Amino acid sequence: MAKCRATPIRPRQGRLLLFQLAQKACQLLKRKAHVYRLCPTAEQARTLTQWIGCTRLAYNLALEQRKTFFRPGRSFNIASQSRDITALRADFDWIRSAPAQPLHQAIRDLDRAYQNWWSGRAKAPTPRKRGVHDSMRFTDSETLSFCRLSRHVGKVKIPKLGWVRLRWDKRIPGTVKNITISHKAGQWFVSAQYEYEAHEPANSNLPSVGIDRGVALFAALSDGRVIEAANPGRKAQKALARAQRRLSRKKKGSKNRAKQRLRVAKIHARIARCRKDFLHKLSHDIASNYGLVALEKLEVRNMTRSAKGTKTKPGKRVRQKAGMNRSILDQGWGMFGDMLAYKLADRGGTLVKVPAHHTSQTCSACGAVDVASRVSQSKFCCTSCGHEANADINAAINILRRADSPLLPVEAVGCHADEAGTIQRAA
Ligand SMILES: [Zn+2]
Repeated sequence: MAKCRATPIRPRQGRLLLFQLAQKACQLLKRKAHVYRLCPTAEQARTLTQWIGCTRLAYNLALEQRKTFFRPGRSFNIASQSRDITALRADFDWIRSAPAQPLHQAIRDLDRAYQNWWSGRAKAPTPRKRGVHDSMRFTDSETLSFCRLSRHVGKVKIPKLGWVRLRWDKRIPGTVKNITISHKAGQWFVSAQYEYEAHEPANSNLPSVGIDRGVALFAALSDGRVIEAANPGRKAQKALARAQRRLSRKKKGSKNRAKQRLRVAKIHARIARCRKDFLHKLSHDIASNYGLVALEKLEVRNMTRSAKGTKTKPGKRVRQKAGMNRSILDQGWGMFGDMLAYKLADRGGTLVKVPAHHTSQTCSACGAVDVASRVSQSKFCCTSCGHEANADINAAINILRRADSPLLPVEAVGCHADEAGTIQRAA
């Protein structure tokens, strides 16, 4: 007691300063992006198409330069290639008519593509194609501004072009750092990246949950909830197949073929939007109701690899695997994990990815691992203790358990993982 009284009391001012410092440390600058539907006039659309063409040209020329003229002692970088772009602009009027920013950004994009290749994250950069990579970026935040005109109409100021109308659906809660204008399946979009001050959220005290992602069901939660697959691709598959069949009958290089190709692209774009909408709603729901979410670590790229095999060693069940691949990709598992990660981080929650092996063969009641326990796609019946459950929910419980005890040993067939975390050979 005497010890307590002996500690000196901090001066009031010092405490206030400390409080302010602590508050400042909790503030983080974060970046997010919002996409608006852009509605340019016919003339504006023509100009934008031209500029995007110049941007693509700058990228492809810079790529060609790096590939063709590279030799030891002569290397290219952002600075040298940007100087070349400036020289090119001085020589050609039609390139000068396009704004400089997107051209220099294309050089930066190329440099990033090379960095990604060299570090093994991506394949070697390839030329940009018309109709595939139709986008350009403006980064001078001083010249960019958004303005609302009415309930659903707004406008954005684009350098050298002026105000362009857009479909307003949200006020940007921060300062715009850059905008990217893109053209996809006959529609224009503007994506605004903004910076905002985020407060470090307090640690969440919501319950924990394990999620098992499946093919028949989209996901099963460890608390017994199941989420049906929306499979937006499957619903539009018929329309897509018809459109693609019609496309195949059109004469190559004809105007009708181009029109039909746009129709196919539009169906693809609609499917992608539906999928994104479903995933956003679901990840929002889960991030708002749970504090810790455990997912199994999925290697989507490995899982969706074709079963075709090689000529000398042909694979088995190729068509079945192709169908499964389609539904895995259709469900957008990778995207779901990414969305969940940032939504949880915003709310003070955590996402834990746990090793996936044997989660569907382990009994959530007694811990026995046996392939035979999985009676069917949906039913689990333990061969050791007779525990019966929905196979996906059983797996989700195992996933949650692994997240709670990260030091749990590797469970293997024929082994028994007990609570203490040691492996005992099953008798
Ligand atoms: Zn059991």
